[in-house]
Amino acid sequence: MRKIFDFHGGIHPPENKHQSVVRPIVDTGVPPELTIPLSQHIGAPAIPSVNVGDHVLKGQVIAEPRGFVSVPKHAPSSGTVTAIEDRLIPHPSGHSAPCIVIATDGGEEWIDLATNPDYRAMDKGQLLEIIRCAGIAGMGGAGFPSAVKLSIQPHVTIDTLIINGTECEPYITADDMLMRERADRIVAGAEILGYLIEPREILIGVEDNKPEGIAALRTAAAGRDVEIIEFPTKYPSGGEKQLIEILTGKQVPSGGLPSDVGVVCQNMGSAVAVYDAVVHGRPLISRITTVTGDSVADPGNFEVLIGTPMRYLLERAGYDRARNNRLIMGGPMMGFTVPDDSVPVVKTTNCLLAPTEKELPTPPPAQACIRCGMCAEACPASLLPQQLFWFAQGKEYEKLEQHNLFDCIECGACSYVCPSHIPLVQYYRASKAEIQQQRRDHEKSEHSRVRFEARQDRLERAEREKEEKRAARKKAAENRAKEAAASGGDEADPIQAAIERAKARKAAQQAGAGSESELEKLEKAVVSARKRLDTATAKLEEAQAEGSDLVGALQTGVDKTRTRLEAAELALAEHQSSAAGPAGEAPPADAAQAAIEKAMAARVAQESQSPQEKAQGNLDKLAQRLEKSEAKLAESRAAGDEAKIIEALEATVERLAAKVDEARRALDEVEGA
Ligand code: SF4
Ligand code: SF4
Repeated sequence: MRKIFDFHGGIHPPENKHQSVVRPIVDTGVPPELTIPLSQHIGAPAIPSVNVGDHVLKGQVIAEPRGFVSVPKHAPSSGTVTAIEDRLIPHPSGHSAPCIVIATDGGEEWIDLATNPDYRAMDKGQLLEIIRCAGIAGMGGAGFPSAVKLSIQPHVTIDTLIINGTECEPYITADDMLMRERADRIVAGAEILGYLIEPREILIGVEDNKPEGIAALRTAAAGRDVEIIEFPTKYPSGGEKQLIEILTGKQVPSGGLPSDVGVVCQNMGSAVAVYDAVVHGRPLISRITTVTGDSVADPGNFEVLIGTPMRYLLERAGYDRARNNRLIMGGPMMGFTVPDDSVPVVKTTNCLLAPTEKELPTPPPAQACIRCGMCAEACPASLLPQQLFWFAQGKEYEKLEQHNLFDCIECGACSYVCPSHIPLVQYYRASKAEIQQQRRDHEKSEHSRVRFEARQDRLERAEREKEEKRAARKKAAENRAKEAAASGGDEADPIQAAIERAKARKAAQQAGAGSESELEKLEKAVVSARKRLDTATAKLEEAQAEGSDLVGALQTGVDKTRTRLEAAELALAEHQSSAAGPAGEAPPADAAQAAIEKAMAARVAQESQSPQEKAQGNLDKLAQRLEKSEAKLAESRAAGDEAKIIEALEATVERLAAKVDEARRALDEVEGA
């Protein structure tokens, strides 16, 4: 006989379950319109994959999951998409959210279903994918995507798989009727889940107030590796942590997960959905919902399509709106009031409770806390509810977290026993929502801060490196000058020579030496082309660093500018050599054009070189350009040119020096290869 454990606290509210188990599950049929919210689960909302006007088939994917913690949405029946817009959804806040609206055609025309009767022949990854693609999320609580829960980390060992058939909340009987009528599918679903996560044991836990359901499960599980465990009824035994403690004696640590103690829990409806998805290829498009309360004439359980307006479902149970004081989704303990009866049934709608005022009176006004301690005695999570209440009132969120607010399962047991009628659980819900919002805001600002600091670091590092290189070059130039002076030869120092040339040019200008010579024009053309190339290269590097789309276009611009610069340099070189050549030799009619042709020819020749030759050639060329640029800079400084010209030349020298370093590294690599 298996040992059953108990958990701290708990209460015994009136069960009120008998009203809704007097008749079998009723198929609600197809309503004229279905409204499918894109978010019916914990995690990111799905993204519509259909458009208004599209015809959809039953079971067709109409919204794709977004990210790992998300599930797709399917058309619960065939019809036409008439809107994708915000509609009221069943949520405690009573807000609207994006929904896909389908006008049904009554044809119930299915997509082709991929069946897998022999699931054991399948890879486990494939099985998980089927569960994910079927849109299965927890059908009893917050709606956590099942595939995420079943994705067990390789280092984690699961001892026990628990199928939760507790259904401890008053009034709700959806799982009880599922056990009575579909016990075979529950057991088969449990076996599939067992095959997937390979636990040591598979347990189905059920409270002893469901004898018919337990008997049906025992019959279905006979001779199979699934154990049915019956235990005393107490609210809230269905809480995941409480059920684990009842069946295994293990306590999930504060802030921890069931897998921390080697357990995975799945809801009973989810087990059936897994069986339907894997074996019959059916996505999750309907569920069993209890409709009960004194405002309905025929309470019972209904198989209802997801997206069915609650009003349509209530009418099938003989709803009398005039008698109903408020419409509750879920039970009286953990449920919430829905804004109106037009909101749709979603995957987590286990019950619609339509009580009369007499049956579930509006709570009287709250009185002051008398510190009786009854709430702490009732709390199944061993919290101090009155303490949490003080902190929640004072918005002391840090203290709430320190007192384990997030271990609160919102069962409402504390509010139920409070003699002062303080709606304690409402305070906890509001505080949790506020803390979560603050966490999201904090994460966002942290993210922005980290990005800003990384950018500042990058800029400062680049500036430092520039400064270091500048200083190194200055020192190298000074050394060269000193060496030249020591050797006594002006011609050995190109910088000194450049300075002299600049002085001469300046003197000629000052003496009004006439109009600009051809040589000066060509020199200017080279400087101007070089500046343009530098600017274009800087832009390209910036775009590459940012991963911009403009990289391709900027690269083309750099290539063209470089060709022009090469042409200008060649033209200048030719002019200089012709000027130094035999007297009377005429310069070429179009020096630039000739130079372009030469540059092209040089490029063609370069293509036939070996990688080493190319690298060496590139290094030589860059070294020459650097030398020339340094000379030009010295010349410009000596001539007292404008600051912006000097700055441009400095930038050119700096970039060329970096390129020379790079070309040297490239050559080393080629030679080392
Ligand atoms: S049960 Fe109510 S009155 Fe008693 S200590 Fe808790 S909050 Fe205060
Ligand atoms: S609602 Fe939270 S604090 Fe109150 S009894 Fe339940 S778990 Fe404890």
